[in-house]
Amino acid sequence: MLRLMLFLVQLALVIAAALWLTANTQDMSLVVMGTRITMNAGLAALMLLIVVWILFQVFRLVKAFIDLPATQRKQREENKHRRGLDAISKGLSALAAGDAKEASKQSKVAQKYLAKSPLTHLISAQTALLEGNSDQADQNFIAMLDDPQAAFMGLRGLITQAMKRGDRAETVALLYEALKLRPKTFWVVDTLFRLEAAQRRWPETLSILEQGRSNRVLSKAQGQRALAVVQAQQAEDLLAAGEIKAARTAAQRAVQLAPEFAPGQLVLSDILRQSDGPEAAARALQRAWKREPHPLYSLAYLRALGAEGPRAILDAMTALHALRPEHALSILELGRAQLAAGELVAARASLEPLEARAPSHRLYRALANLTEADGGSLETVTGLQAKASLYARHDAWSCSACQDEHQAWSAVCPSCESFDTLSWGSEASERDERPALEQRLAGRVALLEDGR
Ligand SMILES: [Zn+2]
Repeated sequence: MLRLMLFLVQLALVIAAALWLTANTQDMSLVVMGTRITMNAGLAALMLLIVVWILFQVFRLVKAFIDLPATQRKQREENKHRRGLDAISKGLSALAAGDAKEASKQSKVAQKYLAKSPLTHLISAQTALLEGNSDQADQNFIAMLDDPQAAFMGLRGLITQAMKRGDRAETVALLYEALKLRPKTFWVVDTLFRLEAAQRRWPETLSILEQGRSNRVLSKAQGQRALAVVQAQQAEDLLAAGEIKAARTAAQRAVQLAPEFAPGQLVLSDILRQSDGPEAAARALQRAWKREPHPLYSLAYLRALGAEGPRAILDAMTALHALRPEHALSILELGRAQLAAGELVAARASLEPLEARAPSHRLYRALANLTEADGGSLETVTGLQAKASLYARHDAWSCSACQDEHQAWSAVCPSCESFDTLSWGSEASERDERPALEQRLAGRVALLEDGR
């Protein structure tokens, strides 16, 4: 309609111009092939205009005719693209709904119309997984590696597949590829360092953790804790290999990163005892005790001082107690030492108030022994022993992942290869990091399971 009106306006303008030119211009004459033609100059200009217009329209028609196959081809391409995208969209919906049959149908349509799209490979791979066809899925994931936009998705699919197969070497190799592409992706850093740690490849584990920390993939606290755990383990290995100097550097770094981490403090005191003598080891343990008492520090302290016999032990425990006199563990250790040294009144004064404040297996055992030594009734002693049995004995390192108990600490659980899951006795329920670690592990698996 608009075009018609525009045309009418143009026509009216041309007629008006022709009338005006006819009325206001003079005749002109020219000789064409011996014949003299005389006409109004305005009319001549108008005719020239019409001829040019006709030529222009003819040119347009011819061009449209020549372009016809290309235009049709372009339209066909557009149609194919649209149908391919439509199939991908329907395929993704079917995958989300777990409808393998519909997903398979749509992935075939997508392959027909959009064979080279990484999204087609993605839904084909996911459909193959839904149908239990791992080889087909792998082929599609591999095809995605060529596309810079889709390579990471392809790698993620291959990593999940390798993990399901239990192929650790392949998983690690693929994770290093993924780390190169996306060094700031949490699940890549987290999974890779745990797998390297499980292989006890400490320099590689440290390097991934340092990278993760500098890229802020791991929080400051997570990074420091993990680094301290690795350094403490390295220190133990180096000490066992007789490399005291290197062991000392690693242990000092572990303590610096996480002063509350007991295995770091314990290995440092062990190293200091061998390199600098018992005094240095005892001073290190006193500092650790002052920060946060730990049952294993008191044992290491006695060992460092070579304290033997009830009196020497009581002297050592009195010194430790003075550093944290209000702490329940300080009081318990002092009370036990007083009991062993035969100072029953002092032992009772130390131990009895703890019943309301910090009941434990060790406390009730000490109270039972105290009552027995004090000439108390058998009934009271048995009652206290029964109470002791209600509380767990904490005399081993237990793994929060597999619940196995181990006599020695290790950065990786010897039973289930989980990283940093061993804790001493009741530490597990008291430490804040423990549930967070579990959640991190579960979160990582969920991330790998859903998106691929
Ligand atoms: Zn375990």
